[in-house]
Amino acid sequence: MTTSFIRSDDFAAFVTAMIEAVPVYGPVAKRSRFVFARLESPEELRLDYDVTILPPKKLFFPPAQDLVRFDDAGPTAALEPTEKILFGVHFYDVKAIDQTDLLFSERNYDVNYMGHRETTTIVASNIQNVSSRAFFASVGRDVRPRGHDAFLTAIDGGYVLETRTERGEALLHYGAFAPATEAQIEEAARVNAAALERCPEKLEQGTEEIAAKVRAAFGDDALWERLAADCFSCGSCNTVCPTCYCFDVQDTWNVDQSSGQRTRYWDACLTEDFAKVSLGEGATENFRESRGSRFRHRVMRKAVYLNPKLGGPACVGCGRCSAACTADIADPVRVINQIMASWGAE
Ligand code: SF4
Ligand code: SF4
Repeated sequence: MTTSFIRSDDFAAFVTAMIEAVPVYGPVAKRSRFVFARLESPEELRLDYDVTILPPKKLFFPPAQDLVRFDDAGPTAALEPTEKILFGVHFYDVKAIDQTDLLFSERNYDVNYMGHRETTTIVASNIQNVSSRAFFASVGRDVRPRGHDAFLTAIDGGYVLETRTERGEALLHYGAFAPATEAQIEEAARVNAAALERCPEKLEQGTEEIAAKVRAAFGDDALWERLAADCFSCGSCNTVCPTCYCFDVQDTWNVDQSSGQRTRYWDACLTEDFAKVSLGEGATENFRESRGSRFRHRVMRKAVYLNPKLGGPACVGCGRCSAACTADIADPVRVINQIMASWGAE
């Protein structure tokens, strides 16, 4: 594919042309923070965002998503994917999308997720400002982002756009792009490397070493109860996570009592009822009843269990969970560094 350059003066016209052709979603300001939302104008686009409140997975896997609608005539699919552009995704969120792409397609091909995914062009963008809890430079260091169609980097006087797919290449038609010079390409590489140096938090060890020790700590119930002592079981750390993908499915009936819909809702393994199952006749069993067991499960999912399947940890270092946790205990860096530094040393 190609590497092109567009001048800053031509950038707004490029974004406008995309918006006029197809729905474009990108980072926009929401009070003092940022969210991915549909763009109405190029002025709304905030490529200087640090991190968004919710990850962009919400476009493919919304918090509430109808799967099937039914009435007297039978069920009909509730599949409504539309062509769209997701613009300005940081590389750690692309890595998270890569993970959900795999998990929603490898065995049971999830048409409701993949339908949205396959109709979306993803444009990644360089990290201009780093969030105060980010550690994307030190987690999953060997895992490269793959799911984007193009990568945009802001440099002096304009933007370098590197395309990776035909979809990405098609974006060039919307703007006054010219082939990038060697100097512009080198500057873009420098800009992206510099962002990695600005992470405020850092894991000290590599993926394998962390996975081995965290797994070894599994049976230390006192450790997990201690780490989770202040947990409210609110599930916020799950809700904001770009790699969490658990959901609950519920059928709801309309007032006519003959039609309704089957909807899936985001679920959260830190909440008290997540692992509660029915034993029949009104009896239930909760197989992760204690806060410590739920807290441990989340850490194991992020640092251990999925690594062989994903080729790296199921955490991309966005820092959203750390920022969202009222008790300030969810930060994977603090939890893992604490285990790495002290567990098994006594
Ligand atoms: S566990 Fe936390 S830091 Fe890691 S990907 Fe999820 S929200 Fe981001
Ligand atoms: S956000 Fe914090 S308090 Fe809430 S469930 Fe997660 S660890 Fe517990």
